[in-house]
Amino acid sequence: MAKRSRKIKKFVVFELIFLFLIIICLGLYFYFENETKTNKKIYYDLKNEVKTKNKELDERNSKLSLLDEKIETYKDIDNSINKIRSDYFKAIKDLEDKIISGQSNKKIAYMTFDDGPYFNTYKVLDILDKYNVKATFFTISANGQYCHDNKTEDCFKLYKEYVKRGHTIANHTYTHAIFKGLYSSSDSFMEAIIKQEEHIKAQTGGYVTNITRFPGGSASAGKLKNDIIAKLRNRGYGWVDWSAGDGDGGGLSSNEQAFANFKSTINDSIEVILFHDYSKYTTAILPDVINYLKENEYEIYPLFYESNKINK
Ligand SMILES: [Zn+2]
Repeated sequence: MAKRSRKIKKFVVFELIFLFLIIICLGLYFYFENETKTNKKIYYDLKNEVKTKNKELDERNSKLSLLDEKIETYKDIDNSINKIRSDYFKAIKDLEDKIISGQSNKKIAYMTFDDGPYFNTYKVLDILDKYNVKATFFTISANGQYCHDNKTEDCFKLYKEYVKRGHTIANHTYTHAIFKGLYSSSDSFMEAIIKQEEHIKAQTGGYVTNITRFPGGSASAGKLKNDIIAKLRNRGYGWVDWSAGDGDGGGLSSNEQAFANFKSTINDSIEVILFHDYSKYTTAILPDVINYLKENEYEIYPLFYESNKINK
């Protein structure tokens, strides 16, 4: 009897241990099953995120390659514009050569505007646009970022306007300080040239100028003239004075006087005409000036380095 009872006890203990083990196993199973489910979810979420990011990356890459294509097209446009410009100047140079050698009766006028940009330059540009005339602007920057005639107005934008409207930008030195050190040595002159050259480049996004005019004219350089010319040549510059003008640098008192001055100086087959874009007299007579030149069969062009009128 005792033996049987011990057997039953043993069996119960065994059953309990077995049950306990089953509970532990079930507990572990559910725990790990749950853990796996969570991990699986994280895995799929991450996989989806990677998929979405890859898709976004593909879209961005295709947009970038489209932009690359566009940039290439713009580079082509730049090259085409440069080619058109150089062909245009080559044709004017050929015409100059024919005029000089007597093979052509045509006439050329180069209208040049010194000492800008002024706020008034906008008016000058609009008149030139109206008559479809391209000119040359000999620029300075003595007043920093402001217009010389209106200190509250930003004149930097004008540099891009010159380019956009097809005019030639030339270098008239940064300071124009004729009596304040510009002509104290050839080095001080070149410093003012290089400073303005860099300024033009910065304001236009890379326009390279290789034409200059001495502030006050080349005679103002006095004994330094030859030394300066050699240094200009070394830097790839040509220079030009002028053969005609309306006297707007000073001493004018009426539009009539300005126009009479101008007409009295127009007599050569190729003229380089000096104006200043600050002059109210020049601005007023500009339409008459253009009409007068056209009536007298002058073709009006912007200056370029290869022109016979540019001293090298
Ligand atoms: Zn000047």
